[in-house]
Amino acid sequence: MTMHSDPDCIFCKIVSGQIPADKIHEDDELIAFRDIRPAAPVHLLIIPKTHIAGLADTEASHEALLGRMMTLAPRLAREQGALDGFRVVVNTGRDGGQEVYHLHLHVMGGPRPWKHG
Ligand code: 5GP
Ligand code: ZN
Repeated sequence: MTMHSDPDCIFCKIVSGQIPADKIHEDDELIAFRDIRPAAPVHLLIIPKTHIAGLADTEASHEALLGRMMTLAPRLAREQGALDGFRVVVNTGRDGGQEVYHLHLHVMGGPRPWKHG
């Protein structure tokens, strides 16, 4: 798969190491790190290394990548101690509350009372 990087994108800078992050996973195509403003005891972000602006910008050629992001979620949730469940959220577009325009999967879990929504 061709890798894209956007020099103005904060998550591309995390991928390249230009800005630090608390990384908990890295492979050829994905990295995962802790959200800087956690909304749950376990709050991870799983992102592709290649720059894709958001879920609305994915196409059929991204299906395998999206599948890997999704199957990584339960593995990392478990490893990080979210043993009794978690949520996966992909904020998409302005009305979806997306703030960072580099595709990312929120994985939120761990003991309540962090419950929201
Ligand atoms: P969204 O775009 O889905 O609304 O949320 C972006 C998420 O990225 C937020 O939860 C925010 O706390 C997190 N975030 C933004 N900038 C950084 C950063 O520089 N480092 C880390 N680790 N998380 C970030
Ligand atoms: Zn990016």
